[in-house]
Amino acid sequence: MTLEREIMELKLESQFEELVQAMYGKAIEDCSNEELYVAVLRLTKGMMHATEPNEGPKKVFYISAEFLIGKLLANNLINLGIYDKLNEVFDKHGKSLSAIEEIEPEPSLGNGGLGRLAACFLDSIATLGLPGDGIGLNYHFGLFKQVFKNHKQTAVQNEWLEKEGWLKKTDITFDVHFGDRTVVSRLYDLDVVGYQSGTGQLHLFDIESVDESIVKEGTIDFDKEEIEKNLTLFLYPDDSDEAGNLLRIYQQYFMVSSGAQLILKELKEQKNDLRHMYDYAAIQINDTHPTMIIPELIRILVEDKAFTMDEAIEVVSKTCAYTNHTILAEALEKWPLKYLEKVVPQLVPYIKELDKRVRKKYKDESVYIIDKDDRVHMAHIDIHYGYSVNGVAAIHTEILKNTELNSFYKIYPEKFNNKTNGITFRRWLLSCNIPLADLISEKIGMGFAKNADELEKLLEYKDDQQFLDAIDAIKLENKKALAAVLKEKEGIEVDPSSIFDIQIKRLHEYKRQQMNALYIIHKYLEIKGGKKPQRPITFIFGAKAAPAYVIAQDIIHLILCLSELVNKDPDVSPYMKVIMVENYNVSYAEKLIPACDISEQISLASKEASGTGNMKFMLNGAITLGTSDGANVEIHELVGDENIYIFGEKSETVIEHYAKADYVSKDYYKKSPVIKQAVDFIISKPLLAIGDKENLNRLYKELLNKDWFMTLLDLEDYIACKDQAFADYEDRASWKKKMLVNIAKAGFFSSDRTIRQYNEEIWKL
Ligand SMILES: *Cc1c(COP(=O)(O)O)cnc(C)c1O
Repeated sequence: MTLEREIMELKLESQFEELVQAMYGKAIEDCSNEELYVAVLRLTKGMMHATEPNEGPKKVFYISAEFLIGKLLANNLINLGIYDKLNEVFDKHGKSLSAIEEIEPEPSLGNGGLGRLAACFLDSIATLGLPGDGIGLNYHFGLFKQVFKNHKQTAVQNEWLEKEGWLKKTDITFDVHFGDRTVVSRLYDLDVVGYQSGTGQLHLFDIESVDESIVKEGTIDFDKEEIEKNLTLFLYPDDSDEAGNLLRIYQQYFMVSSGAQLILKELKEQKNDLRHMYDYAAIQINDTHPTMIIPELIRILVEDKAFTMDEAIEVVSKTCAYTNHTILAEALEKWPLKYLEKVVPQLVPYIKELDKRVRKKYKDESVYIIDKDDRVHMAHIDIHYGYSVNGVAAIHTEILKNTELNSFYKIYPEKFNNKTNGITFRRWLLSCNIPLADLISEKIGMGFAKNADELEKLLEYKDDQQFLDAIDAIKLENKKALAAVLKEKEGIEVDPSSIFDIQIKRLHEYKRQQMNALYIIHKYLEIKGGKKPQRPITFIFGAKAAPAYVIAQDIIHLILCLSELVNKDPDVSPYMKVIMVENYNVSYAEKLIPACDISEQISLASKEASGTGNMKFMLNGAITLGTSDGANVEIHELVGDENIYIFGEKSETVIEHYAKADYVSKDYYKKSPVIKQAVDFIISKPLLAIGDKENLNRLYKELLNKDWFMTLLDLEDYIACKDQAFADYEDRASWKKKMLVNIAKAGFFSSDRTIRQYNEEIWKL
């Protein structure tokens, strides 16, 4: 710690009092929480600005359409090491820091795991002292805000930009040229402060001419063709029509063109030789959205920097690396060439050249960049013209190598590598679960905050009854706190001594929220039939669904109808409750995860690339109930059979079903009375009395006739496994041990470990 910092900390209290006095002419106790929020924001920003930026000869640029950063105040205070001090100061003046934290609006610059990963990575890059910045877009309304009406999701704009917030407007602007117009891009910066040291930047670009007023009040509707006004309004605007697809391409090119210009500007300022760009910069492409940075950089080097095509391709290919996040075909972007010709005609000759070179070398059509229908496969650009391709969990990388991207793996075995995802423990333990973090540090010190493997020291206390009870007592307190939040926000009362079973993640059929809903129906019918559970169960969901994803909307409808039915049925509600929280986001996750007993990770094996929610839950002492998918596999290996509940078919079996196209959901329905009864209930009288016939019928038919993500394949096994977990919960002594083992073994999933591996094996900073 610098002397300057030390003095700053010692003086923190008087400094803050003076600041408040100067800003408002009154004492802390006389200020509103809103006023104090702005004051503490200013104080924090000043301190962040004074921290040393991470520097070095080579820097990583992490480019991503999403950065799901969440609220920043608490995290920044923790990383600056002044959270406890400020908390004390507020206490002393009769104010509550946590109430002040609530004032901060949550930016929703991301959709789910992929965006949250990018945010965790920035924290770890800064903390590890690595030179590295994020590059993305400053969406004014981000992802939509979810509001429930008549048991259905509606979408409204999420306002988060404040008059005075974390973003710093810079005077850096770039022209971005499209086929039909030129626009001005302006850079906004956000300081990312590492834990106890180091800073990086998140660079967010915005279009100068953006106009929020074109969005119809209380909706997410706007004119998709007014590019100058709409470009940075929303993340993932509706792409169910051509205008929506074009808008996404406008956004992507706006991001990569701005990013490329920024990177080249920095290289020039450092007087670095562009011909050795890869010695000074690594560009990590997070999923396919930023792929166009490859042809864009090649274009600039050829057109403005006098490189030959061969030279430009070589330099760029040695600079860019690609992270794959999914094997779902519909999520791998393929843009029609004619869309690219309209939006970015200047890139098309380069994309065609890249494709031509592939065709010359390889006969296998599946590795072409432009397919026979004239669609451009963005991932193929990344794989051919990047130097690294990584999956995000061991099983995911194996599936990429052996199945999904096998034809590429055969060409470039050396490019493929695994980087199992991670989470930052600063946010997902230190900040969201202060009592648990304190308890752990009493036993093993604070080293785990920076060196997560130290959590394993907790295993020494596996038989320390007092310690196990203390962990359990904290869980109960967290459940009480969540119960208060649920009462206030959702208007539903839950029993803190019930089992909290939680599934929170984007809504997608492959994640199988519908399977959890079928279990709930099964349990409901059991209770109706007189078979009561040993202890009440609280089933909690949180999920947003893409507005154009019809079946996902239907699943939300089913869950909300079940919630109404179950919670209002006096025969059943003493034994179970069902809640779907509105507008699930990072702040909600921070309240839900510390209170969870059972973590639902039930995706169809092979389909969840990694998951990171599973890691957050484990770290906070929840036990995973999941399939052998994504990082669940690695969690299982770490904690052992005793401390996890695994069920369902293995990925090999699932992949075989797809290959043979031999899965018939109706067979499972016909064979099993339990399955039949649960599925039929979707269109039963009691549910139709609450819900909408069209939605429930459609979902029923989908499950019966298609069930692309094989819900019914695993349903019986799921029911058995979940019942076992609920029964085991009653063996309190052994359950507490399971909690401890999960916490102790979570160290591997620190994003610090992940980033060290990216650095050692890909970036080499
Ligand atoms: C961690 C996180 C996710 C990812 O959850 P998965 O279960 O891995 O899909 C999604 N949304 C938010 C808000 C998160 O914090």
